[in-house]
Amino acid sequence: MARTLQSWTRGEWWAGGGLGTEVSDAVTGEPVVSVSSDGLDTAATVAYAREVGGPELRRSGFAARAALVKQLALALKERRGELVELSARTGATAADASVDVDGGIGTALVFASKGAGRLPDGNVLAEDEAEPLGKGGTFAGRHLLSPRRGAAVEINAFNFPVWGMLEKLAPALIAGVPSIVKPATQTAYVTVHAVRVLDESGLLPDGALQLVCGGLGDLLDHLGGQDLVSFTGSAATAAKLRGHEAVTARSVRFNAEADSLNGSVLGPDAVPGTPEFELFTDALVHEMTCKAGQRCTAIRRALVPEALLDQVSGAVDGRLAKTVVGAPGAEGVTMGALAGQAQRRDVLAAVERLKNAATVVAGGGPPAEVAGADAATGAFMAPTLLRCDDPDRAEPHAVEAFGPVSTLIGYRDPAHAVELLARGEGSLVASVVSCDEDAVREVVLGAAAHHGRILVLDREDAAESTGHGTPMPQLVHGGPGRAGGGEEEGGLRAVTHHLQRTAVQASPRVLDALTGTVH
Ligand code: NAP
Repeated sequence: MARTLQSWTRGEWWAGGGLGTEVSDAVTGEPVVSVSSDGLDTAATVAYAREVGGPELRRSGFAARAALVKQLALALKERRGELVELSARTGATAADASVDVDGGIGTALVFASKGAGRLPDGNVLAEDEAEPLGKGGTFAGRHLLSPRRGAAVEINAFNFPVWGMLEKLAPALIAGVPSIVKPATQTAYVTVHAVRVLDESGLLPDGALQLVCGGLGDLLDHLGGQDLVSFTGSAATAAKLRGHEAVTARSVRFNAEADSLNGSVLGPDAVPGTPEFELFTDALVHEMTCKAGQRCTAIRRALVPEALLDQVSGAVDGRLAKTVVGAPGAEGVTMGALAGQAQRRDVLAAVERLKNAATVVAGGGPPAEVAGADAATGAFMAPTLLRCDDPDRAEPHAVEAFGPVSTLIGYRDPAHAVELLARGEGSLVASVVSCDEDAVREVVLGAAAHHGRILVLDREDAAESTGHGTPMPQLVHGGPGRAGGGEEEGGLRAVTHHLQRTAVQASPRVLDALTGTVH
């Protein structure tokens, strides 16, 4: 039987009781760990965050904690190789693991640098300028932000066991709010290793970080108005958590990043032979195969001018044929496995639903050949390109196949492309690949209300572009509607999300004295 993965609460590593949920290696199918939180004292865990972690963190100020986050990120960087190696068991190639591990470390470093450069030493952040509220100049008001006195419960999806944790943890630490991290069961062992590295660095204040592997039980019942829940995962779980009494009745600050039917639009000018046509097809293939398509920001809908459907379909099919699916690290492998058999079952079921409205151009199921692994035991999936000739069908705009799957859809003109993008009912990201300024303006301004981020890709910015699928910590990551309605990252916004904004009204002298106070 596999060993039970340990949780880390109240300063101790401990293993949950019972049989737990067995997690298998994505490639070999062998058991890796069993995951159980049986025995978790939820009330005591929340209390430890509030009563030990919070005060410990707030003994220093914002700038010092930003420096701490830098040190923690560097401790992880030193041992990144261990995390990359372990990630192979989740089906991730070294390049995939780098997106998660190096991406997470880089994200923490960006927050650290922003915090060190722009936040004061104390625990009070004065926002904007003081507003005079009286004619004589003796009475004014100013927004002061201070750390909430609760805990940040951070629930993550299986596809980013390191980045997912760090993008939430780093801003909470800088803000001075202790975290209770709950990784997704399927890949929790990678998160556990990262937390062990952080623990072994000896840098973390007591109680600043706790980790729960397995279910949270009734932990949310213990949360109140000073606490936060930050969730990443499916829209269904987001809806369940959003309806919890802690959120609806006790105003726990809730943020959700959920699934999304992201679209990429090939501009009408970007015909075969132009750099933009190449950029579009390359980006689509990259988004389909990076992390085997298990990125919330991947391109699910490829919108192309109707007249170019055949050409785009041929070009993408040709590039996908070069994909070598197999065990991470095996000779020539360019795409690994899905995180597990359950995930593959979900993807295959979603492809079946999409096939009601679309035809298969490439792939469509498990791959015919797998390099360096047994196709019967690994969670492999062929990169799958579908083509939907009726853009009005509901399926491509509603069914998220969380794997290497994308659907080509024809559009008539930029206004129609905007209409189709909006049918995703709120997405994390869209891109438009074009040099035609009018088309770009129409798509960006038309689609902005439905998206958290929009990339315009062309020959001018391509060399430096960070790509469609990569959220940048400097900018907001999130999206309206189906995408969860939340905002993460966005530079210091992620830090201030953990602070309470209080409008303080006093004399200008008192307001000046209050800012910069360490308490
Ligand atoms: P999921 O099933 O919703 O699970 C997400 C997390 O919620 C996991 O840690 C899960 O724990 C936990 N969870 C499930 N039920 C819960 C409950 N009742 N109370 C508290 N926690 C609960 O999603 P997933 O399958 O892991 O992730 C895939 C989805 O995430 C995709 O749809 C993808 O689009 C989305 N995603 C979005 C983003 C983004 O930034 N917007 C990023 C990555 C992924 P267990 O694993 O223990 O069940």
